[in-house]
Amino acid sequence: MNTPKNAQVAIVTGASRGIGAAVAQRLAKDGFAVAVNYASSSAEADALVAQLTAAGAKAVAVKADVSNADDVRRMFETTEQQLGKVDVLVNNAGVLKTVPLADTSDALYDQTFDINVRGTFNTLREAAARMNDGGRIVNFSSTTLALNMPGYAIYNATKAAVESFTHVFAKELRGRNITVNAVAPGPIATSLFLDGKTEEQIQTFAKMPPLQRLGQPDDIASVVAFLAGPDAGWINGQILRANGGIA
Ligand code: NAP
Repeated sequence: MNTPKNAQVAIVTGASRGIGAAVAQRLAKDGFAVAVNYASSSAEADALVAQLTAAGAKAVAVKADVSNADDVRRMFETTEQQLGKVDVLVNNAGVLKTVPLADTSDALYDQTFDINVRGTFNTLREAAARMNDGGRIVNFSSTTLALNMPGYAIYNATKAAVESFTHVFAKELRGRNITVNAVAPGPIATSLFLDGKTEEQIQTFAKMPPLQRLGQPDDIASVVAFLAGPDAGWINGQILRANGGIA
């Protein structure tokens, strides 16, 4: 996993756990120097960086709440200082609580929009000013947007906003040779999906795709690696639904 000299630099938001951690591992394996962003899980982020570094990769843990514009500015500055100018931005950080719309508190609405939408907005705005030409941006939507299940109104609304950002921002970066795409996973076995569900509910979700299993973080990391890599250069402004065929 040795990071080559003059390696391209990737920021992965929310990389302390779950899908983001798998993405950081995969990008490091593919030769990127990786900024492992986290908001509160410093022990997990430090452990991941130690693991990547021990394997010969270049990686740093960067604490930043993506919903805070100053934090995001500092995250780009720290990454530039420690690894170099950014080539790849993966907007993975996100939160989900399933609650019927009528029972959703103002606080939950604000938190979900602040992290999923404002967080993505903050990093995209910063990326426009700071990323290298020829770079790649990968946002995170969700296949729940296509399923319209009860309890997902607020979350789906945030992911609809992320999809809109993706389509428009791809066009606004005309001339920079930067692609902007989104991956929309189906159910993936991380705490975001598993927490609060009964074994029966988990099994119901696992049986939904024709491939008859839950996705694993690595299933999504390989999609992100593709979109971030040289083979995806002609894919731009697209949403890639990686979900085993659920929808
Ligand atoms: P997860 O296991 O709950 O991990 C979430 C990550 O986001 C953690 O590293 C967390 O770090 C970070 N994070 C949360 N709030 C943050 C903030 N304000 N600033 C920076 N980082 C923050 O979630 P996941 O399942 O890996 O989900 C990753 C992405 O995939 C999300 O955008 C989610 O909507 C999307 N997705 C997931 C599924 C699924 O089934 N799992 C399906 C479709 C889409 P800290 O612990 O440090 O806060």
